[in-house]
Amino acid sequence: MSAPITVSAAAITHPGCKRTMNEDSYIAARPFFLVADGMGGHAAGDLASAAVVQEFATVAGTTASTVDEVRAAVARARTRVDALSDGPRPAGTTLTGVCVSEVGGAGYWLVLNIGDSRTYRYADGVLQQLTVDHSAVQELLSAGAVAQAAHVSKNVITRAIGAGSTGDPDVWMIPAEPGDRMLVCSDGLNNEVEDADIAQLLAAHPDPADAASALVDLAVENGGRDNVTVIVVDALAVVATDDDTAPRTHSEVDEDTLPRAALV
Ligand code: MN
Repeated sequence: MSAPITVSAAAITHPGCKRTMNEDSYIAARPFFLVADGMGGHAAGDLASAAVVQEFATVAGTTASTVDEVRAAVARARTRVDALSDGPRPAGTTLTGVCVSEVGGAGYWLVLNIGDSRTYRYADGVLQQLTVDHSAVQELLSAGAVAQAAHVSKNVITRAIGAGSTGDPDVWMIPAEPGDRMLVCSDGLNNEVEDADIAQLLAAHPDPADAASALVDLAVENGGRDNVTVIVVDALAVVATDDDTAPRTHSEVDEDTLPRAALV
């Protein structure tokens, strides 16, 4: 079976300027492109994020992933993270990213999120955040409590793998289009770099490795107050359906009649 989405990807992580340790981890191995940000102030943040990506590494190398596979990997990861520590501030980590997936043979992005790391799509010149932060700030903003949100620490997250959370991942299935550029990052990027600047750098650097390195460089230049991890994943070609197994390229895309996104 050929991959439902043919991708080109690059990943970079950097400790930033203020921290000696890097508690972020990532996997950029088909079909998984995921970032985990180990929680600072908790025990073993680095071990927690590493344990989670290791669980995905053991099942990497396939052409496509499934929602069941992802949920099972998250469950195994949670067991490992829970076993790392049992103090008052138990180990925890975020997890977000995209997995190559398919529906009826057509290429889909499986997007998942737990915590406040982010997955964006950049397509047709528009940057869109696909994930919803599991953070106190976002919950207040979603409830319309804008004034209160301004007074809440950005660091308070409301869902994690570990850290006493039983939270399940949000999972979305999104039809892929040739030319899609997915950006997966830890908050060390989006807390330092405005969305408009992220979009500008993604537009300016067609090569994913160049784009990833330009984003990390700007986060560091803007202060680098946290670890920063960036994965850029480009869809070079996308299989449309089982009947049409010739992957489409960017010039061949029809107006999409598939549902834009579904939370599953
Ligand atoms: Mn962080």
